Amino acid sequence: MPNANRHTDSRLNIEENVPLAPFTTLRIGGPARFLIGARTLRELQEALRFAQQVHLPFCILGGGSNLLVSDEGFPGVAIRLLMNRVTRSGGMVQVQSGFDLTALVHRTVAWGLSGLESLAGIPGTVGGAVRGNAGAYGGSIGDAVATVSVVDTATLKTVTLRRDECTFGYRASRFKGDTRLIVVGTLLALTPGDPEEIGAKVAQTLAKREAKQLSCDQSAGSFFMNPIVDDAELISQFEEDQGGRCRECRIPAGWLIDRAGLRDLRVGGAAVSHRHANYLVNTGSATAADMVQLARLVRKEVQVKLGVVLKEEVSPLGVVI
Ligand SMILES: Cc1cc2nc3c(=O)[nH]c(=O)nc-3n(C[C@H](O)[C@H](O)[C@H](O)COP(=O)(O)OP(=O)(O)OC[C@H]3O[C@@H](n4cnc5c(N)ncnc54)[C@H](O)[C@@H]3O)c2cc1C
Repeated sequence: MPNANRHTDSRLNIEENVPLAPFTTLRIGGPARFLIGARTLRELQEALRFAQQVHLPFCILGGGSNLLVSDEGFPGVAIRLLMNRVTRSGGMVQVQSGFDLTALVHRTVAWGLSGLESLAGIPGTVGGAVRGNAGAYGGSIGDAVATVSVVDTATLKTVTLRRDECTFGYRASRFKGDTRLIVVGTLLALTPGDPEEIGAKVAQTLAKREAKQLSCDQSAGSFFMNPIVDDAELISQFEEDQGGRCRECRIPAGWLIDRAGLRDLRVGGAAVSHRHANYLVNTGSATAADMVQLARLVRKEVQVKLGVVLKEEVSPLGVVI
């Protein structure tokens, strides 16, 4: 067994055998062999060095709002990003990864800066949002990004990438595909405006989310991505049902899951939410195994009944969905 204290003389707080469930919104997951909260860039680099020294893999935790952790936990070093400084110069906002996204949206309202209004209410950290290009109502964080700073875990050096080097797409970015890169901060280019108007837009976003009950407890938000559908008949059924056009031929996964008759479907303590069919919720006693089984069942039924393949949006840690 590696001994935590032998490998570092810093003030890193290294905890051993810590259950990860409380660090996720799903409240699921076994223990991490080691857990380190990185409050500074230097602590992150030390935590990564520690993982190298004990020859264990590492993983990154932001707010845990998009994570499904295995029941066996993580047999390595889990690093929580807690760096949370934010500074502003004119319309440019430099923010570290551990800053809470919704708190950032409220901060920009106070500063009279527009550009993040549609992101209000999305849980998690700024780093997690950049990595998954989080978004809602047609806007994504990548739209506001000027640069992203990352630590390259191969060299432990910090590199700053321009937005056009980040390959942002629908719930996608370069960082999602390349786990060697840890997002440590981002520079956002926002537009000065009237704080009252910006605040009103944020309030509208929050009201829309509230009306759709998007703050549902013990979920990871949308479990599956909204797929691009090429079945014209299905698209027209969707448009007729919703009274509107679908965006870029993407149909909400929740609508498809509902259409396949899977609302309220359960496996053990995991269930398809009644309120929002793309939320798979932990009703209290769900294991990761229950969640995986439910997700696979949902995917299979949607494919068999509607001919559409769903891909998970949630990030699995130690599980295969
Ligand atoms: C109720 C609810 C509603 C939601 N609504 C939305 C929504 O409207 N739109 C939307 O896009 N998402 C939504 N989500 C999903 C989630 O909030 C986002 O995906 C969020 O951006 C995840 O950030 P996080 O810090 O919690 O990441 P985590 O869940 O902690 O991590 C997710 C993944 O990103 C990696 N990661 C985290 N931080 C970093 C980093 N700094 N560098 C590199 N990798 C990192 C982790 O290793 C993991 O693989 C919702 C979730 C919930 C629970």
